[in-house]
Amino acid sequence: STQEKTPQICVVGSGPAGFYTAQHLLKHHTQARVDIYEKQLVPFGLVRFGVAPDHPEVKNVINTFTQTAHSDRCAFWGNVEVGRDVTVPELQEAYHAVVLSYGAEDHQALDIPGEELPGVFSARAFVGWYNGLPENQELAPDLSCDTAVILGQGNVALDVARILLTPPEHLERTDITKAALGVLRQSQVKTVWIVGRRGPLQVAFTIKIPRPRKRLTELLLQTATEKPRVEEAAHLASASRAWGLRFFRSPLQVLPSPDGRRVAGIRLAVTRLEAVGEAIRAVPTGDMEDLPCGLVLSSIGYKSRPIDPSVPFDLKLGVIPNMEGRVVDVPGLYCSGWVKTGPTGVIGTTMNDSFLTGQMLLQDLKAGLLPSGPRPGSAAIQALLSSRGVQPVSFSDWEKLDAKEVARGQASGKPREKLVDPQEMLQLLGH
Ligand code: FAD
Repeated sequence: STQEKTPQICVVGSGPAGFYTAQHLLKHHTQARVDIYEKQLVPFGLVRFGVAPDHPEVKNVINTFTQTAHSDRCAFWGNVEVGRDVTVPELQEAYHAVVLSYGAEDHQALDIPGEELPGVFSARAFVGWYNGLPENQELAPDLSCDTAVILGQGNVALDVARILLTPPEHLERTDITKAALGVLRQSQVKTVWIVGRRGPLQVAFTIKIPRPRKRLTELLLQTATEKPRVEEAAHLASASRAWGLRFFRSPLQVLPSPDGRRVAGIRLAVTRLEAVGEAIRAVPTGDMEDLPCGLVLSSIGYKSRPIDPSVPFDLKLGVIPNMEGRVVDVPGLYCSGWVKTGPTGVIGTTMNDSFLTGQMLLQDLKAGLLPSGPRPGSAAIQALLSSRGVQPVSFSDWEKLDAKEVARGQASGKPREKLVDPQEMLQLLGH
């Protein structure tokens, strides 16, 4: 029967990894059905909640994801948190194969005294705040200080620095939330330091050209050593905001204000590089430096969390242990994206990685390594969810919210004004 030839597959997470894995499976298997489960009410993961508002071109991948979602063999089930609303073993019962693509939802802690002081945030939460992630809408960062320090020198640190320093009128026509724009308009922040443990040759920024490491180093050196041309120098002198990279510094302690109520600075250990075998490590020299600041954003990395006790998880590396996307020791279970590789790499990297996982799954299917006989797929899961009072939202529900956001943005010339309140979204959908 057709049902027997129909592999039922589900993907957990609707970021780039989830969508690219689904795309690969649908393209290379003419019968496979793919259900995508997502805990948020809206799809696209970090493309919506991570990518900076002033980089709209990056979000064009949404068009491809939307095409995938429109396939009649694909369904999106939002508002379903796997591990809470439905377990991974339940998904494994209902499907021939399960792909975990749930990204990296936590941040790496600094593990230094003072980290809990008001005025210290993770870059992850700050990014979520300006991008409309519901759980970060209460963040309300106080930008009445003149200096902010960002700990970590990766792409996210650069995004955050840029958002802090860009004149708010340049963000007015992006999809940054209205609330964030309001706070940024009041910002007193004039200087942003981007602090890293290591040197200019080890920074984790990426650029979109060939031989990026060499070019990046050249760019850094050129900017740091070249004398600005006359008009550039004049421009720099009149700039009301500035930023700088501070190398060979590692955070020791967040310094409190005299009343102990908030952050007033950060104590940094001066480091130098030391070769340890093949690797190069930053080790403290014993010298210290105090940098006064009113805001500390820690940007030392995202981190995946385990979502279900039945799924192996490497707590040290923060990934699901796998061989090219096959979860170790669990036939029929796969992973792709940041939860597979760790939280590094741009959307293009995530795409290639997800195609590879899709390929492995289809190979196993062909080799008869997945359970034979029909599986109920989403019907069984919908019954479970409904018995638990969980009401999923569909891709066409998202398209209603999308239209609403676009309409709300129109008045102010923005591509959209994001809905940030799940209650309001559910109400708009008549749930
Ligand atoms: P995510 O995009 O995080 O997707 C995971 C999805 O799983 C999310 O939708 C999440 O809600 C969902 N989920 C989590 N837990 C559950 C659960 N229990 N049940 C159901 N669903 C769940 N790349 C670029 O190419 N260009 C850029 O400009 C760029 N900017 C970036 C800016 C920031 C701040 C960050 C953090 C990353 C940026 N990246 C950029 C990298 C890019 O976002 C990642 O490569 C990509 O999003 C990783 O995809 P993913 O699907 O693995 O994870």
